[in-house]
Amino acid sequence: MLRLDYHPAGRHFLQIPGPSPVPDCILRAMSYPTIDHRGPEFAELGLKVIDGIKQIFKTQHPVVIYPASGTGAWEAALVNTLSPGDTVLMYETGHFATLWKKMAENLGLNPEFIGLPGIEGWRRGVQADQIEARLRQDSGHTIKAVCVVHNETSTGVTSDIASVRKAMDAAGHPALLLVDTISGLASADYRHDEWGVDVTVSGSQKGLMLPPGISFNALSPKALEASKTARLPRAFWGWDEIVEMNKTGYWPYTPSTNLLYGLSEALDMILGEGLDNVFIRHNRLAEACRIAVRAWGLEIQCADPAVYSPVLTGVMTPEGIDADQLRKTIYERFDMSLGTGLGKMKGRMYRIGHLGDCNDLTLMATLTGCEMGMQIAGMKLAGSGVSAAMDYLVSQRVPFNR
Ligand SMILES: *Cc1c(COP(=O)(O)O)cnc(C)c1O
Repeated sequence: MLRLDYHPAGRHFLQIPGPSPVPDCILRAMSYPTIDHRGPEFAELGLKVIDGIKQIFKTQHPVVIYPASGTGAWEAALVNTLSPGDTVLMYETGHFATLWKKMAENLGLNPEFIGLPGIEGWRRGVQADQIEARLRQDSGHTIKAVCVVHNETSTGVTSDIASVRKAMDAAGHPALLLVDTISGLASADYRHDEWGVDVTVSGSQKGLMLPPGISFNALSPKALEASKTARLPRAFWGWDEIVEMNKTGYWPYTPSTNLLYGLSEALDMILGEGLDNVFIRHNRLAEACRIAVRAWGLEIQCADPAVYSPVLTGVMTPEGIDADQLRKTIYERFDMSLGTGLGKMKGRMYRIGHLGDCNDLTLMATLTGCEMGMQIAGMKLAGSGVSAAMDYLVSQRVPFNR
């Protein structure tokens, strides 16, 4: 039974890699009264959040905001740029890449899914040389888009998008580059313009620290051009009308006014801390988390240190330990939610989110809950991950501006 009136003492620890905990000031901002979305004050809000979110994507070009979850923005990226039967090259990094590919099939596209075989592909990032080799074979340019996931939330792997751009340029191939950074934005370094991405897809409930409910398409001039001839049916997702009305701070239909109040507050927080400081904080907490996992004697899901995720860490459980049973124990004993193993990793790993509104003590409490839970589950740990993470955090100088 769902009991929203049940209030155990202390805060619930929502340590899944999205939705991430929503800071109190964002919740308060969202409680302002809803205003007329065609009235004069609205434009001020609209223009502010559109300008601010461009800074987060690092783009000079339009960013479309949808009243939808990330999945909607995935669909928008495809239907605005492609035509029925188009071949798209998609790269298997994990569960989310697989879901995006399924969506492409459902929309009548012809996705070609490449990657490393088996579990191996779920432990490493996008191999840009594979993309380059495939594009070089495609001399007739039948491939219309390359789709990759930047931060693969199911595994804790952050792929190198600049290397994908380089591979496409090296092959001299004109395909569009579509990137999902739904869980990477505002936690991991991301550069829409510099990396030559044509459509970047993101969402609200991960690094942006908002509740679920709004999502984004950052565009390039080439993507806007492609949208003029793309023939997949689209109505709600169509960019043209939204981009046009956004110039004055409005939307063609009712936007999620209260989530935009939240976005305005989140932008103040993130840009106030400074994007670079936000990334340093995430990298540091992620490193502390990995140090803990190693001290426990457990394996990190990501097998390539060059692409460790600053957003989350996948922890593989040893043979005979059901990761979901362990998560259940931790939830029931310590009121903490950890991410489940998805797809190919079901029951074999759990995911620790350390994104968004997370600091040293949030992470330490999280690791403590994991360590106690694993002790209760009877796991033989090599050592204390909590101690190891503490030593690391203590030894680090931090750029707090307080
Ligand atoms: C969360 C997530 C999605 C799905 O977004 P929804 O908001 O749940 O629709 C897609 N891709 C990645 C990488 C994600 O982390």
